[in-house]
Amino acid sequence: ILAFSSDLRLLFANRAAVKLLNLGTRIHDSIPLIELIRQPKILQLVQDVQSRRQSLDCEFDSTDASEQNVTLRIRAYCISPENKPVAKRSVPSRLKNHSAEPKDAPAAAVLLVISDETRVKQLENYRKDFTANVSHELKTPLSAIKAYSETLLMGALDDPDARYRFVTSIGEQANKLEQLIRGVMQLSRLQSMPDKLPLSPLRLADLISSVIKELRTVADANQITIDDQIGSSSQLPDPMVLGDFDSLRTILGNLLSNAIRYSKPGGTVILRAIPNGNRLEILVIDQGIGIPASDIDRIFERFYTVDKARSREAGGTGLGLAIVKHLTNAIGGTIGVESQLGVGTTFRLSLWCPSTQP
Ligand code: ATP
Ligand code: MG
Repeated sequence: ILAFSSDLRLLFANRAAVKLLNLGTRIHDSIPLIELIRQPKILQLVQDVQSRRQSLDCEFDSTDASEQNVTLRIRAYCISPENKPVAKRSVPSRLKNHSAEPKDAPAAAVLLVISDETRVKQLENYRKDFTANVSHELKTPLSAIKAYSETLLMGALDDPDARYRFVTSIGEQANKLEQLIRGVMQLSRLQSMPDKLPLSPLRLADLISSVIKELRTVADANQITIDDQIGSSSQLPDPMVLGDFDSLRTILGNLLSNAIRYSKPGGTVILRAIPNGNRLEILVIDQGIGIPASDIDRIFERFYTVDKARSREAGGTGLGLAIVKHLTNAIGGTIGVESQLGVGTTFRLSLWCPSTQP
């Protein structure tokens, strides 16, 4: 909150205003508005409030005292003797007595209420991006379904070979749509779940075997061997982790499914557990196509895929690792990746051990 007298000198500023507008050392009692505030938009707003004698607002981007970019919304109230203050209760008492102007042309005092809208703006942009991404991803399989069905209606229905191929393709595209929608729904469920999940001690071997069971058919179809080395070390015969069973199953399932999907036929995927202080690191190692260094920082973003064509062909939507990242945070874990193009990729999931509950 900032309050200015009718001759536009500072009457009052609270700490939040000083920080948000980065007023720093400039500020002192009765400093003229023009010396205190550098943003032309605010100066214009105050001028408009005084000339039009009505409350107005504006929004602008700025940098706060800690050099952070912020989006600020400013509501400027016109406080004149004949014009009852709009927000009566929030007017400082010093201001209320400030009505010494001549009766014919009383200038108005001005009260600025500044709110930090940065987070709201970020969420708004996030929502816009998300909607744009989802619509874009939905469009491709839908266009294909439309094209196939139009071709069938235009005569291909009478050609037994063609109609079989087209109907198969319609089925495949519908599967992609279903997978995409499932991913989006899972992400939206995650967003409404608490930031931190309750954790319990879990046997890693149980988790791994349930994940492998689910992906065995895909691995066989791609001629990939899964080498499960978890529990094979005499030092660590039955590793335990702290987590949430369903979340960890989703995390490990996504990592293993990627390792299979982005491997060449005949390759091996290794699962390994390594103790690291009070944490356990789970490694998913593949000998697949690898990830280019220029993409590696982005693979955890929603809808990000290195090779759109290859990922789509393999049925990918680019949501898997975004879900992995979200769930890993929720169980107090961390995830890292190392990769070499053409050689292979290792995902390293680090979890708390039960004896050292955070
Ligand atoms: P889905 O939503 O079905 O998981 P996806 O596999 O394309 O689709 P992510 O799991 O988020 O999406 O992975 C993002 C991208 O990171 C992939 O498209 C791929 O390019 C790359 N990637 C992920 N894991 C590996 C891996 N083990 N080897 C090589 N590239 C990988
Ligand atoms: Mg994936």
